[in-house]
Amino acid sequence: MKKRVLLIPQYMKQFQCIGIKCKDNCCYGWKIGIDENTYKKYKKTTKATIKQLINKNVTRNRSNPSMENYAKIKLQENGCCPFLKEDKLCSIHKELGEEFLSKTCMTYPRITNVINEVHEKSLLLSCPEAARLILLNPNKMEFDEDEEPIDIRNNIMHKINANSTVEECFWMLRIFSISLLQNRQFSLGDRLIILGLFMKNVQECLDNNEVSKVTAIIEEFNGIMGNGNLEETLRNIPTNLTIQMELMKEFNDGRFSIGFSKNSQSYIECVSEFLNGIEYTINAKVEEVGEKYKKAYSSYYEPFMKEHEYILENFIVNYVFSQMFPITSKDGVFDAYMRLVINYSLCKMLLIGMAAYNKKLDEGLIVRLVYSYSRAIEHNKLFFNNAFSLFKDNGYNTMAYMAILIKN
Ligand code: SF4
Repeated sequence: MKKRVLLIPQYMKQFQCIGIKCKDNCCYGWKIGIDENTYKKYKKTTKATIKQLINKNVTRNRSNPSMENYAKIKLQENGCCPFLKEDKLCSIHKELGEEFLSKTCMTYPRITNVINEVHEKSLLLSCPEAARLILLNPNKMEFDEDEEPIDIRNNIMHKINANSTVEECFWMLRIFSISLLQNRQFSLGDRLIILGLFMKNVQECLDNNEVSKVTAIIEEFNGIMGNGNLEETLRNIPTNLTIQMELMKEFNDGRFSIGFSKNSQSYIECVSEFLNGIEYTINAKVEEVGEKYKKAYSSYYEPFMKEHEYILENFIVNYVFSQMFPITSKDGVFDAYMRLVINYSLCKMLLIGMAAYNKKLDEGLIVRLVYSYSRAIEHNKLFFNNAFSLFKDNGYNTMAYMAILIKN
């Protein structure tokens, strides 16, 4: 059997769906697309126990059909997949076997990016078991080369061939970003601020068609990080937790105006805990809420995070790898950096309030927030893009604002 090369984070080898033991399974609440091959196999099946269920619940996609999105499963009124049985097992899998699962059902939560023919696989944080594996490893995330038979079905998110100038320096930028984000000599906040200063410099070079200078910028940053001269500059960056909370709360509020699918219930609960934790009410003065947010940070968030910073480090490194940071934003590498910072800062803000509500922060609470956040925000690119455009239109797209979001 012919094989192809893979690049994977080590956690991929440990992942297994925990099925019935999953506290929030993935078989409800979102559109389940069926690819053309699977649809045709369904139509040909003669197995009486499942045929009727298929005919009733699998329908062709009449608007914008594609090979990947050829048909869909009609969800029940309660939002559940009609093939999910009472014992939480899938009846297609049981009656027809794994090869009859659609590409989406078969691959979730695995996603694949293809870069110059190399397939890179990672896991989506919207699966609670994947989130647990990705986040809770205290060691630095590591990556392995592997291989797989070429007929394995993959859920391909991005495919690029390095043929533009930015893409040519992709590997340099990626390696620098991951090693900086895993440099535990600095706090995670400081690492993110350094990454921003770096990306700003790189963006200026790219804007001036001076790609050859990127290597020199990497060397310069490696030098200043090594000689200890950065510490004082980083210490002197002011904090403003009230503005931090206001900016991210406004960003997050936008998500409520477009409605939720059923599988976002856990996210709505997280936001409610956050608001209760900082005692937010419509009539509360922003300064008072800001004070509660500050107290929640120092009483509950900071003491736990001091010892467990690797959890959010893993969140960010997984983002960098799976989103092909920093080249996926068409608006440049600094734009990609701001997207990363907003994802991190939104999670941080919600965790601060949730920690106050629960009077503690622990691993379980972080996994719950991250998988819920991923379902409601990461899986809704349209919302994120619109809210991010508004954020930029309001003039917050500067390094100074990024520092406010990052620094506590
Ligand atoms: S969310 Fe993850 S662990 Fe839960 S049922 Fe789906 S794939 Fe399995």
